[in-house]
Amino acid sequence: ESSKSIRLKKIHADAAQLYHHILINTEIGEEALNYLHERGLSDDIINDFNLGYAPDRPILEAFFKERMVDQELLRMSGLFVERGDGTLNDRFRNRVLFPIRDAQGATIAFSGRLLQKNDKLPKYLNSPETELFNKRKILFNFDKAKSEIRKKHFGILFEGFMDVLAAYRSGVKNGIASMGTSLTNEQIYLLERTTDELFLCYDGDKPGQNATARALELLEPITKLKLGVIRIPEKLDPDEYVKKYGENAFEKLALTSHETKLAFYMRYFQAERNLANEEDQLAYISDVMQKLAGVESPVEQDLYLNQIANRFSLEKDSLKLQLLEFINKTK
Ligand code: ATP
Ligand code: MN
Ligand code: MN
Ligand code: MN
Repeated sequence: ESSKSIRLKKIHADAAQLYHHILINTEIGEEALNYLHERGLSDDIINDFNLGYAPDRPILEAFFKERMVDQELLRMSGLFVERGDGTLNDRFRNRVLFPIRDAQGATIAFSGRLLQKNDKLPKYLNSPETELFNKRKILFNFDKAKSEIRKKHFGILFEGFMDVLAAYRSGVKNGIASMGTSLTNEQIYLLERTTDELFLCYDGDKPGQNATARALELLEPITKLKLGVIRIPEKLDPDEYVKKYGENAFEKLALTSHETKLAFYMRYFQAERNLANEEDQLAYISDVMQKLAGVESPVEQDLYLNQIANRFSLEKDSLKLQLLEFINKTK
């Protein structure tokens, strides 16, 4: 490891401690601490994840100057933005901070969330790419989750950091999130070394469900991970679900409400259709059969063929014919 990256990690560790201290011990951090408490995060979780608060005025440059840290190194850290005159200003201002750690647990970046909605500023702001932080290679919470993923034999991929934290406080500690993008090959590689199964637990709203369908399609051809879906009802996201129904209810959901890919698609294709209408029915059946053609297990295929035949009062033989057609087309 280069001495530069060791020094950049030290900067991040020190900044994380400072931000955390401001959040939990100072008056400036009070509003942010209340915000986190109101969102259901206990002091234990706040400590476990070393959450912090970046106040609305610059604090970092003076802090590091006192510690004789080289200006050029500060510039490379990603924690600053340059002012017009070349001086350094804190990148994160008036945001709750989530430290982003690498697989070994070293803090290498931050993501900051605004306390209040502001149409002029992004809700979440991440560190830029630096020598330490390549967002394609990082999964939020992987360092803490990896042993639990091994133990449970599956991981759960969430959309947001708050969802990972909501799961964690519900006792579901095998949760991870990407940095607001779809999974990359590097992230898949990390997971494949750790487990053989991954559940997507995205937001229950339309964008979340669309993202789930997209993620399944994207992942399918490039991973040997078995993929499934954990569905959050009522268009909620996992964090909202925990808030509304409690930690126990979420833990149960995460352990039991597992959908196969096909079960997900059967629900997803139904969402915007009226299945009392025959045209919609035919389009729906065709969409589902197309997905079923990609299912390798003959038993699983048969299971869903039976379901569809029963549900729409169809002859299984005619469904099988259509299935064969789709299978031949994809070959
Ligand atoms: P919260 O519960 O704090 O409002 P969320 O996780 O529910 O956050 P979503 O809008 O569902 O927020 O977005 C999911 C994830 O996408 C976020 O956790 C964040 O990682 C990323 N994201 C959302 N908005 C932005 C943004 N404006 N800029 C960058 N990333 C974002
Ligand atoms: Mn969303
Ligand atoms: Mn969300
Ligand atoms: Mn949310």
